[in-house]
Amino acid sequence: MPSNKSKPEETPLQNVRLADVLHQSRAQRLIQQALVSDRFPHAFVFHGPDGVGKEMFARAVAKLLLCESPQTVGDTKDSCGVCRSCTLVDAGNHPDLHLIFRQLAAHHPDSSVRGRKALDLGVDVIRHFVIDAVGLRPTVGPVKVFIIREADKITPAAQNALLKTLEEPPETTILILVASAADRLLATTRSRCQLIGFASLPSQFVAEQLTTLVDGIGVDQATLLATLAQGSLGRAMTYAQDGFAESFGEIAAMLSGLDRMSAANHSKRLVEMAKDSANNYKSRDKNLSDAAARREALGDILGAMATWYGSHLHAAAGRSQPLPGLRSGIDPESAARSIDAISDAESRLSQNAHAPLCIDGLMFELASVAVF
Ligand SMILES: [Zn+2]
Repeated sequence: MPSNKSKPEETPLQNVRLADVLHQSRAQRLIQQALVSDRFPHAFVFHGPDGVGKEMFARAVAKLLLCESPQTVGDTKDSCGVCRSCTLVDAGNHPDLHLIFRQLAAHHPDSSVRGRKALDLGVDVIRHFVIDAVGLRPTVGPVKVFIIREADKITPAAQNALLKTLEEPPETTILILVASAADRLLATTRSRCQLIGFASLPSQFVAEQLTTLVDGIGVDQATLLATLAQGSLGRAMTYAQDGFAESFGEIAAMLSGLDRMSAANHSKRLVEMAKDSANNYKSRDKNLSDAAARREALGDILGAMATWYGSHLHAAAGRSQPLPGLRSGIDPESAARSIDAISDAESRLSQNAHAPLCIDGLMFELASVAVF
């Protein structure tokens, strides 16, 4: 049988205990409460922005549940980090920790499933790697833990297939669904799980982490990327990898010199930038659909634009922001109207509006707001 132990991509923050997950005090409190309660829930949804530590936390919970000598400090439980089980979890080789992700489709026994692009978590993958596996006894540990990455991409059919498992899993099974937005899951799925929300990380923490994790990144650039990533370390890492600080510099230059004459050219350039960035997303994830890659890329660019205008509001309120290319004299009211225009464009794009037309319209609107 094909193994689902093919290693997921390594992250530098893999070997963690619960105590190592910082700035998620609410999630920490809820999980500690669950650990001491008589009925530890069998199914969780960890939800919140991407790149804030949800999966890391899920791994730390799994490590604790599988640990051979769990520690208690005060009223906080954690894994020991050194037993055989903890070592296996850290190495990504624990037979009772099942990480479920879209790309497992490539390891499905049915060749027609293997041949499909894994755009979502379909019923075949969920059935084979979760529902069938839940029935088996744990191999070495006291329990089996299933962590489902990108659970908001489980298709409705697959969620329906999973309902019974979520409702009555064997005593020895814990399921953790990791999702960026819980409301993308069916209400029937949500109601069978304990929901634990995760918050955005403080920008300063993200910047500090970037300077440790990314070779050669300066403090200014780390601070800029942390601001643009809005509390997501994962996103900030992607930005560092893609040289997004440079793109932001270009966007800032465009916005500072924006007028009706230049709007069309800038709009063309933004669409080109989005295409390049979408290609980066696709090269990282071969199973990402064109539409999803474009959405990510446009989201980054519009987010950067909103951050640029937002920094004018901060500056006007006397809270300085370390963003380059601020146009002196743009008044807070124009900045606020520009941010509204950007968020309208975002919602049009999320309803599949034609991107070049939408960006064109937005740039002309921003150019008109900027006339004062
Ligand atoms: Zn241990």
